[in-house]
Formats: sequence, C-alpha cells, structure tokens
Amino acid sequence: MQYSEIMVRHGELSTKGKNRMRFINKLKRNIQDVLAAYPQVTVKSDRDRTHVYLNGTDYEPVVESLKQVFGIQSLSPVYKVEKNVAVLKKSVQDIMTSLYQEGMTFKISSKRSDHQFELDSRELNLTLGNAVFDVLPQIKAQMKKPDLNLKVEIRDEAAYLSYEDIKGAGGLPVGTSGKGMLMLSGGIDSPVAGYLALKRGVDIEAVHFASPPYTSPGALKKAQDLTRCLTRFGGNIQFIEVPFTEIQEEIKAKAPEAYLMTLTRRFMMRITDAIRQMRNGLVIINGESLGQVASQTLESMQAINAVTTTPIIRPVVTMDKLEIIAIAEKIKTFDISIQPFEDCCTIFAPDRPKTNPKLKNVEQYEKRFDIDSLVARAVAGITISEIGPESARDRIEHLLDDIL
Ligand code: ATP
Ligand code: MG
Repeated sequence: MQYSEIMVRHGELSTKGKNRMRFINKLKRNIQDVLAAYPQVTVKSDRDRTHVYLNGTDYEPVVESLKQVFGIQSLSPVYKVEKNVAVLKKSVQDIMTSLYQEGMTFKISSKRSDHQFELDSRELNLTLGNAVFDVLPQIKAQMKKPDLNLKVEIRDEAAYLSYEDIKGAGGLPVGTSGKGMLMLSGGIDSPVAGYLALKRGVDIEAVHFASPPYTSPGALKKAQDLTRCLTRFGGNIQFIEVPFTEIQEEIKAKAPEAYLMTLTRRFMMRITDAIRQMRNGLVIINGESLGQVASQTLESMQAINAVTTTPIIRPVVTMDKLEIIAIAEKIKTFDISIQPFEDCCTIFAPDRPKTNPKLKNVEQYEKRFDIDSLVARAVAGITISEIGPESARDRIEHLLDDIL
C-alpha cells in the first residue's frame, strides 16, 4: 500500500481565536513554498487540519521537509481507502502484517464523521480488531499505550488509516507575526538569529551588505546559500543586497581607526532601517551576541542602536558561542558559515576597535560625512531577489560540483 497524504496538525495557532483562518492560510502557503520542488503535491487546509496530498510522490522526503516547517505540531502519513468494510478489513490486515514484530501489542482507534456509515466507531474497532486476529492470532490487543495504535477515520469522501504520529517543529507559521529585516552577514550568528525569529512567526527579509571588489562573489553566494537554508522553515525569503563599498571606503578615509567599526555599524543600521520602512517591516533582527568580540559590548550596542528607535531583536544576545554553534549545526547553516569568504566587516576591521565608543565622539566624527546622501545612494542601489528552496535539479548540480 502507498501513502496518499500527510495529515498535518496545526500547532499553537489553535488557540488564536478569530485569527485562526489567517494563520492556517499562511501555514498552507508556507508549506506550498517549502514543497515547491515536488510539483505533484497539492495542499488543502480546513479549520482543523492541513492535508498534503502526495499524488504519487514518495512520502519520505516530503515528511522530512514538513518536519521543519514552523506552525506544525505533528504529522501523520495516511492511507486513503474506499469506505467499505471488506476493503477496510483487508487494508488493516495488510498494514498490520507488514508491521508485525514478535510480542507487539496494538489497538484500533476508529472515529467517524460520516454518521451514515454502516458501523459506528465501537463496532469498527471490534470488526477491524478481529480482522487483525484472523491474520495474526498471536498478537495482543492493549488499550493503554499499545506499541501500535492504528487510527481509522471514516470521513464523507473516504476512509483514512494512519499509525505514525511524527513531531513537528512547533513555533508559529512564518508571517503570522509581521515582517522584520534580518541583517545577514556570512557568519555563524545571524542565520541562527534568523531561524529563531522565524520560529516565532516573523517573516524575514535578509539584508546583506556587500563591498565588492573587497568582498568576493563567494561571500555573496554564501549569504544567499544561508538564506536558502532558512527557507526550509517557512518558505521563500527576499534577499536584499546592499552596495556598501562607497561607504566603507569613505569611512576608512575619514574616521579614526578605533571608530571604524562603530561608524560602519551605524551606517548599516541606518540603511537597514530605511529599507525596513520602505518595505513595511516592523523590526530589525541581528546576530549580535554579548561579549564575543570588542564590537559587541553593551557600550557598543548602545552607540550603534542610537541611530534608530525601531525595535531591534537580538535572538542570540545572551547565548554562549557554543550554544549558537549547536543551533547552527542543527539547522545546517554551520558548514556554510565557516566557508572562508571574507565579510565586508572583517576586511576593514581595525586591529583594536574601541570597546567603549563614546556617542559624543561618534557624532563628532560623523560630521565629516554627508550621511543622508550616502544612505540614500546605498538604498537606491539595492537589488532584491526571491530565494526559494533548493530544487531537485539544484541539488543534483551541487552534488556534481562536490564530486568534480
Ligand atoms: P555573525 O556571526 O552573524 O557574522 P558576528 O559574531 O561576526 O556575527 P559581528 O561581525 O559583530 O558579529 O556582526 C554583528 C551583526 O551585524 C551580525 O550578526 C549581523 O546581524 C550584522 N552584520 C555584520 N556584517 C553584516 C553584513 N555584511 N551584512 C549584513 N549584516 C551584517
Ligand atoms: Mg560576522
């Protein structure tokens, strides 16, 4: 027998009252994005569940993808069979004989939403349980915590059988908490920050500062690959590349070395905020973590933050590096992040950046710049592209690249 659909149970959103349908529709669209590589698959949602119809697609990779999508509490691969007692008996027997192992206990849990069906749920449990004993006389029924709980659902259009309950990623469907701009470098921390924001339903757009020719095409591709990695949790992400060369050169030429970093970060923040406003984002998300490097002291954070009143979410701010790395490995961004392409900040980084930059000094140095037009030019020069999940074809090409 072949699975016909994956049944998806919604997560936390079931508590969300009248917003429920909005949440469910968002989840449905995210699932469609994430499964775009499987053109046969179709998705349908109702108030209680989302049905992912396989239409012949192999179920395993689809389940693996669904397990990562935020807003899903659990999922079950399901067999769809004709609503007919003889067919049901035969199907239940086939499933149980294929799964049986010595000493196994089981139960049948039937439910019918079609009340016209000839057997009620109690009769179904009995009839189908007896059918199992006919082919597996040695198997034991057990009502509490059986090894295998075969669920039978009689709905209007057909009957559905399932026995696996797979845990989903939890969290909220991406997009149900509004939009934020993720400042995405090529490092380890910002992709993790992005992942954590996605988990709470924030729709992120990735803002990446590139300074060609000082930064290589490889560095840009790395940021795009990291973004692609993040699409697994909730669908496509807009990738925004900001031309940053002019600003970095000007800072290098005009600001004292110890303040390069602070000034650079303040420009990044201003530009990100301008893009956020233009694109109706509500917050900025970054990968700042306390005390890792000189640039990440509280004094530094205050000086950088002073250019905007927009809320800045720092999901990894209090985590140890090892905790961040553990998440990066889990979400498979780590191996991409450690690829050796220089980020724009590393290239211009002074040997000894100021750990306690004084806002008064910062503002003094910034008088040397025409901030508004520098920001405006960078914003005018952005390029936006939509990044979706890797298609089967991309995957094969990458595998070939690795081999050759
Ligand atoms: P990461 O590992 O995310 O690069 P980090 O520990 O290297 O972080 P910093 O280099 O101080 O820390 O950067 C702090 C944050 O500033 C980053 O997490 C990121 O959000 C943002 N940032 C730094 N460089 C860039 C860039 N080139 N483009 C976009 N955002 C950046
Ligand atoms: Mg970095």
